[in-house]
Amino acid sequence: MSEEKQKTGCSTDVWDGWGHSKCSRKGVIEREGKLYCRQHDPVAKAKKEEERDAAWRAQWDEKKRQHRIQGERDAFARDCVQEIAERAAGKIDKDEGSKDEG
Ligand SMILES: [Zn+2]
Repeated sequence: MSEEKQKTGCSTDVWDGWGHSKCSRKGVIEREGKLYCRQHDPVAKAKKEEERDAAWRAQWDEKKRQHRIQGERDAFARDCVQEIAERAAGKIDKDEGSKDEG
């Protein structure tokens, strides 16, 4: 009787705080001859981990992208400030005007 139950139950060992015991959930997914409950389905678990990994990667990519945008903005702002400063100092106009002098 109990063996019959084992056959249809999830075959994952779980830690219950005292020791290992078989997962009490019903095995609904068969993987390589073993039954697993929805929670312990190795494929679903791998998929979940993959999704978490992908989500983490997407988050990281987004962060990097934002940093890049911020960096480009900073570089652009720096260029603008530098150009304004050079114009203000008459450096750019002087260089262009130096042709006449030379
Ligand atoms: Zn299970």
